[in-house]
Amino acid sequence: MNLTENEIITQQLECFGQVETGKQLKDMTTFRIGGSVSFVSYPRNMFALSRLIDFLIENDVPYKIIGKGSNLICSDDAYSGVIIRLDRTMNHWYLNDQKLIAEAGASIIALSVFAAKNGLSGLEWASGIPATVGGCVFNNAGAYNFSMSDSVLRVLILDQGEFRWLSAEQCGFSYRSSVFHSNPQWIILAIEFALTKKDEQEIWAVMDQRKQRRMESQPLDFPSAGSIFRNPSSESAWSLIEQSGLRGLSIGGAQVSAKHCNFIINVQDARAQDVRDLIDLVIRKVEEKTKVRLQTEVEMFNWNHTKIRHQSKR
Ligand SMILES: Cc1cc2nc3c(=O)[nH]c(=O)nc-3n(C[C@H](O)[C@H](O)[C@H](O)COP(=O)(O)OP(=O)(O)OC[C@H]3O[C@@H](n4cnc5c(N)ncnc54)[C@H](O)[C@@H]3O)c2cc1C
Repeated sequence: MNLTENEIITQQLECFGQVETGKQLKDMTTFRIGGSVSFVSYPRNMFALSRLIDFLIENDVPYKIIGKGSNLICSDDAYSGVIIRLDRTMNHWYLNDQKLIAEAGASIIALSVFAAKNGLSGLEWASGIPATVGGCVFNNAGAYNFSMSDSVLRVLILDQGEFRWLSAEQCGFSYRSSVFHSNPQWIILAIEFALTKKDEQEIWAVMDQRKQRRMESQPLDFPSAGSIFRNPSSESAWSLIEQSGLRGLSIGGAQVSAKHCNFIINVQDARAQDVRDLIDLVIRKVEEKTKVRLQTEVEMFNWNHTKIRHQSKR
């Protein structure tokens, strides 16, 4: 039997964990947009992940780690490389006194519920974010004046085949950013949180209030990538978009949400290009009207004219 090149690569990748072929990025992102990918790999554990990365680099195969794909706008082009996901296998956590240690592929929603059940406060803000813990550290995700950096004690990373801990300070957290943005070859493996003891009912009350607020203010019934633009220091992005009369504006299947105009939603089979064109139009119109140039908070992935993360060689 003659094996195709893809079958040979699949067999090699299977040494490190489960492998899937024939998948599309639109099935791995909350925007439900994105082209086909050659392989999806779910490494069994951090050691297998380390060997997998060595294998991919040695064989010059592009790769990209993703979490829940909730901050990505992927092109409709095919991605000839390996998407690495940690959310099926590297998704455990344990509690030691008040220190919670979670693997990067764990769901931040599940983790915040676990913290609440154990009377630990610090992750209430995160209970509605459809993301992994690793993705939240990468972006220093946050809401309601709290962010990941408020409760991260240290982060275990994989850097050029070595495992090492970074202190919170070394993570260089800032508004929706961290040191990982400028070191895309580092892989976040686990996070140690310092949480505070609090009455469980109080924690649930805050979480319920946040949930209610999200449901009232965000278009959660449509696929999206959350807030599209960063809030400029002067004013919130949604307010600038509103003042520019862009609420409900659409291109193809993509629309500036009428419910929350810093969300672009996929109302009907939007093409990736529809979303990009709409983003560009919003930036242009807001600048014309308010003189403020909006910056995107979302990350573009697999657009041939943009820098693709995780593809550089060591
Ligand atoms: C409905 C909705 C609501 C949202 N609400 C909020 C909110 O309130 N606050 C907020 O800040 N964001 C929000 N977001 C945006 C998004 O959830 C965050 O940006 C989140 O941090 C992305 O996490 P992820 O696991 O989905 O990462 P992905 O989007 O999959 O990846 C983001 C980046 O992180 C990198 N990455 C992921 N995991 C690792 C890892 N283990 N090691 C190294 N790099 C890694 C990826 O390579 C990529 O560059 C929302 C999104 C949606 C769809």
